[in-house]
Amino acid sequence: GLKSNHLHGSKHTNKMKILSTERIPIKFWLDDIDGEVLKQARNLANLQYAYKHIAIMPDAHVGYGMPIGGVMATREVIVPNAVGVDIGCGMTAVKSDIREIPETDLRRLVIEFKNVIPLGFTHHKEKQSWEGFQRAPDIEIIQKELDNAKYQLGTLGGGNHFIEIQQGDDGFIWIMIHSGSRNFGLKTATDFHQKAVKFCEKYHQDIPDRDLSFLPLDSKEGMNYFTAMNYALEFSRANRKLMMERIIQIIGKSHFPEEMIHVQHNYASKEIHFGREVIVHRKGAIKAAAGMTGIIPGSMGTRSYITEGLGNAESFLSSSHGAGRRLGRREAIRHLNLDEEQKKMGGIIGKPQKQSELEEAPGAYKPIDVVMANQTDLVRILTTLQPLANIKG
Ligand code: 5GP
Ligand code: MN
Ligand code: MN
Repeated sequence: GLKSNHLHGSKHTNKMKILSTERIPIKFWLDDIDGEVLKQARNLANLQYAYKHIAIMPDAHVGYGMPIGGVMATREVIVPNAVGVDIGCGMTAVKSDIREIPETDLRRLVIEFKNVIPLGFTHHKEKQSWEGFQRAPDIEIIQKELDNAKYQLGTLGGGNHFIEIQQGDDGFIWIMIHSGSRNFGLKTATDFHQKAVKFCEKYHQDIPDRDLSFLPLDSKEGMNYFTAMNYALEFSRANRKLMMERIIQIIGKSHFPEEMIHVQHNYASKEIHFGREVIVHRKGAIKAAAGMTGIIPGSMGTRSYITEGLGNAESFLSSSHGAGRRLGRREAIRHLNLDEEQKKMGGIIGKPQKQSELEEAPGAYKPIDVVMANQTDLVRILTTLQPLANIKG
């Protein structure tokens, strides 16, 4: 049954709720857990290799096999779909020493950013350089896609990926980028998911959902997935870094005295939890170890946050990766009101201009303040950021 847990959390209000299943419990940081999310969480809990409990973050919504906003630790196996198709998708943010940018300059910057950063499905016309290309692992799909990847480095991608110029409550202008491993990561994820499906069809037909097909960690393919995923993680970070470097160059290097903050929200890593080495899958979740800096975006019309992790063991040291979707893309286009959404965005540059652009509008996402209020035992807010200009992929 459902019960609030008052056993832990002396320093911070404990927001966690527990639901028992036939196997391990589901622990969640939501007011209500949506039926479809719950079904997927139960499937995870019933996966034979899932460890301790399943953690569901306050931004959770349905994904392939596993909810986005989900954290699962496993022993002995790795689950490609519990990482997600955009391996290494994440956020890079940097603080400037600029206090204000006039609107005309904002508009000019948006144009200049778009001149150096391809959006949507477009790639660069020339190969981009990254020292990592020289040490690509000898794995079939990686070698096959490596040449294409050289044109994809430093490109934003479509959909929910964005570049934002923001005003921080610390008085300074920030730049934030959301992007992942582009087609390179997608190809890698798909290839290994198919391998996992084949493996489980042969040896593990009892899995709760075929979309949770896994590879044993000690198998060649399992090890290859782990290596390939880690390489795609590096690629995604290099991708965001290159875009950010180009933006910094446009604004002026001297205006960026601080290091970039890099956070990934689709990945798996070997970590120790509750005394055991496990593989933690964070799918639409960020690491929030004690003192660790995080980035939690809201939407193009609401606040976003720079956070500090509180190191809550119950979430496997994790927090939400954003506000999370309230409406699917098609639903958003069908149900949101263009006028209302534009009003929510006030004077922000880059508002949706037509009904078909509402798939990423503020109303498509859950209210970020509710999400933040539901995870005060996972993170604390360091800086609050308001959007000034938004570029969507
Ligand atoms: P995901 O990685 O799951 O696609 O999305 C990450 C999060 O980014 C979403 O849950 C949402 O809260 C946030 N987000 C989506 N679009 C925007 C945007 O244009 N600007 C900002 N600041 N956040 C966004
Ligand atoms: Mn992505
Ligand atoms: Mn993402």
